Amino acid sequence: MTEEQTYPIAGPGVCPKCGHKERIGQGLIDQLKQNGNIDNDAFPNGLAWSVPLHDQNKPIMVSPLSIIKPKIPVLSICFDVCANPDCLYLYITKVNFTWEEINIQMPPPQMPPQGPNLRDFFPHLKG
Ligand SMILES: [Zn+2]
Repeated sequence: MTEEQTYPIAGPGVCPKCGHKERIGQGLIDQLKQNGNIDNDAFPNGLAWSVPLHDQNKPIMVSPLSIIKPKIPVLSICFDVCANPDCLYLYITKVNFTWEEINIQMPPPQMPPQGPNLRDFFPHLKG
């Protein structure tokens, strides 16, 4: 029996290969935030690869009247590249497992196709 893993798992705070503290991805994100190109709360985990662990063969049942959004399990692998130009080592900075709400897009109500309006062709027909 294995103990249940708790998340998030923090990776090394520095490059595991050379010990350099700076990361290229985080550096760019900080710079873009400083310049106002992206919001301060954007990219809270730096660079992250999110993998939904949802079984595609298992449909998500949602009642249209329900206000509770369905949740699916998501594994997030946060990574970055060492900013030491002699290293550029790609490493994991954090691993997280969460249940995330998903938005299910309801198809818009179907409108009957609009035929040409006769008045567009015969503008003299008034009323
Ligand atoms: Zn490094």
